[in-house]
Amino acid sequence: MKTKANRILDELENMFPEAKCELDHRNVFELLCAVILSAQTTDVSVNKVTPALFDMYPDARTMKDADLKDLENCIRSIGLYRNKALNLKKTAKDLDERFDGQVPESFDDLTSLPGVGRKTANVIQAEGFKIPALAVDTHVERVSKRLGLVDPDESTEGTESTLKRKIPKYRWIRAHHLFIFFGRYRCKAQRPLCGGCPFESFCVYLKGKTK
Ligand code: SF4
Repeated sequence: MKTKANRILDELENMFPEAKCELDHRNVFELLCAVILSAQTTDVSVNKVTPALFDMYPDARTMKDADLKDLENCIRSIGLYRNKALNLKKTAKDLDERFDGQVPESFDDLTSLPGVGRKTANVIQAEGFKIPALAVDTHVERVSKRLGLVDPDESTEGTESTLKRKIPKYRWIRAHHLFIFFGRYRCKAQRPLCGGCPFESFCVYLKGKTK
């Protein structure tokens, strides 16, 4: 018999066959920069600044030598741009000095980089290297709690381990994209579009037990 997690994922595959990473990138370095820039801002606004950014700084070596003010100007239209410019420069320096200018594959190496936490490292492993990983962002956490896959009081890290236990490894990467699409376009944080939702019968949010 199919597990609840697999039934949900099958339904989400029907709803969002096009689900994928929405941050534009041509290589793992660009992906890493885009993910760093995406903290607390939308992928759409990141995609507006990255073409010019990557034209000016196509790799870690050029970005580490960037003038900080120039770097800030490139990304000025997105939130927290000063911090993010600094993080990009520091990350590029580390990549150049410790990893020969390449983005490392291992989780520990990734999280040793400035501005790279658990979520970013998981995204880079999954999207950049196709290594099974399950990044938990705000959409993944909210949706998995509303769907009753994860306890409403669970921490973000606890959410990741519960999902990894309940979802077969071969589906981790797709699960991340599907939950994000569902959370972004249907099961929104404010005023989710619940009419006709296939998960209404067991939705924890509708029972008033989670946000
Ligand atoms: S019923 Fe509404 S809150 Fe519940 S899973 Fe569906 S869209 Fe989300």
